[in-house]
Amino acid sequence: MNSAGTAKREDRRCIIIGGGPAGLTAALELSRMDIPAVVFEADAIVGGIAQTGEYKGYRYDIGGHRFFTKVDMVQKIWEEILGDDLVLRSRLSRIYYNDKFFDYPLRPMNALMGLGLVEATRILLSYVKARIFPSREERNFEQWVSNRFGWRLYEIFFKTYTEKVWGMPCTEIGADWAAQRIKNMDLLKAVKHALFGEGARNKGEVVTTLIDEFHYPRLGPGMMWDRCREILARKGYETIMETRVVRLRHDDHRILTAVVRGPDGVEREEAGSHFLSSMPMRTLLHALDPSPPPAVLACADKLKYRDFITVMLIIDDPDLFPDNWIYIHSPEVKLGRIQNFKNWSPDMVPDPARSALGLEYFVQEGDGLWTSSDADLIALGARELAQLDLVPREKVLDGCVVRMPKAYPVYDQEYKQTIGALRDYLTRFPNLQLMGRNGQHRYNNQDHSMVTAVYAARNIGGADLDVWDVNVEEEYHEEVRDQDKRYGDRAVPQPLSRRD
Ligand SMILES: Cc1cc2nc3c(=O)[nH]c(=O)nc-3n(C[C@H](O)[C@H](O)[C@H](O)COP(=O)(O)OP(=O)(O)OC[C@H]3O[C@@H](n4cnc5c(N)ncnc54)[C@H](O)[C@@H]3O)c2cc1C
Repeated sequence: MNSAGTAKREDRRCIIIGGGPAGLTAALELSRMDIPAVVFEADAIVGGIAQTGEYKGYRYDIGGHRFFTKVDMVQKIWEEILGDDLVLRSRLSRIYYNDKFFDYPLRPMNALMGLGLVEATRILLSYVKARIFPSREERNFEQWVSNRFGWRLYEIFFKTYTEKVWGMPCTEIGADWAAQRIKNMDLLKAVKHALFGEGARNKGEVVTTLIDEFHYPRLGPGMMWDRCREILARKGYETIMETRVVRLRHDDHRILTAVVRGPDGVEREEAGSHFLSSMPMRTLLHALDPSPPPAVLACADKLKYRDFITVMLIIDDPDLFPDNWIYIHSPEVKLGRIQNFKNWSPDMVPDPARSALGLEYFVQEGDGLWTSSDADLIALGARELAQLDLVPREKVLDGCVVRMPKAYPVYDQEYKQTIGALRDYLTRFPNLQLMGRNGQHRYNNQDHSMVTAVYAARNIGGADLDVWDVNVEEEYHEEVRDQDKRYGDRAVPQPLSRRD
């Protein structure tokens, strides 16, 4: 699929699908090589999932976006574009349960102390029970965790949040996922340390996990991508907004034109010599015209996603809690996480007397929450904040809602095989390259998307780089995978029913 062109630079015209981190980085790299390109972006703002929305001057992310990378090239691009607007922030994120805050990652002694004597006793008894009468089977997440920590601790700190994020019962999630994610936590050792004087905390660990630091653009991640778009425009590289690529016309697998639909609903054809796609792989396969064989489309349809809603609420309170974000483990509410945007950057909030929260709901496109009206979702958010005793209802002044489809590409048991088959098929298209998160169906951060984009652009400039072989060593992740350390075979829960 690498498409090192033989045409002269000025004879080339690259069509870039998507104005997220991958699409804009590809355009930037092409601009550095003087290769003409145009970006088509379906949305009204750039940045994709890393966009920053704005409502009445209040800015918010789709999930907080930390800027962290070990790839110098990526860090350099961020620094060059943002300069002093890339600020260093300290991180605090905790678990909120039963009106109290607990350390994240969970520390047994902190949990026991915080829950009070009665609950701590229940936890310890249930732990002893699990040690004496463990579940014989350890096939699922629930059995694995409750065998090690007892049912009660599992129920409070593992079950609810995991089920909220992944939308399936813990009995359906394989035990190996728990084994990969939950390390270095020993209830008995923690109690012993507390009773016999050794500090319950490993100070080094506190430094790296809790009081972490990260870079963040002063006005949110969208600031990076707005600036990138402006720089490109000054160089004559256009990003055409609210214009969706709906079909890719090809002649015997050489793509000739992209059919784009603008905000007026009118379709037109855009000719190109090279095509770079960050649109979801499944949608791309369906956009090929003539269509791929039915078996290829059936394969594409196996790719799955998890979707995401942010309810942004303006709160009449200058200082709610010190965390950048908190995890909500309480089962009574549907919300999974709360971002406190002012703690990401004070400039996200125009009125210092107020705060802005992002309430996060992990959903499936088309489900009850997804189809609820914005007003109902805002009311739900306000009700749940009051129910959690975090913000009284009368302090919620206003709000807005963003639905982000395909926020998470899902790694199920079949995904690797599916992607392999689709990649094989796509090698027939010499002038099409896939890049980015949903473009390659890879569950990764901005830096990975950016590197795949740079590779794809350099291939057009004559290099021969494998966009599928980008390996960004990650130490720092969006939250649902905070403890995973490897890229590639990333740990994402897999339904047992599919595995067995
Ligand atoms: C909750 C959450 C938290 C995250 N936190 C972090 C974090 O802390 N740090 C970090 O670095 N990363 C984080 N990420 C990941 C980050 O958002 C992505 O890695 C990054 O946005 C991927 O960039 P992309 O360009 O590959 O894809 P996207 O961001 O998905 O952009 C693709 C773009 O293509 C457009 N598009 C799609 N189809 C078409 C079409 N047919 N025609 C035209 N345009 C189209 C879309 O509108 C979109 O703008 C997080 C993600 C989530 C969901």
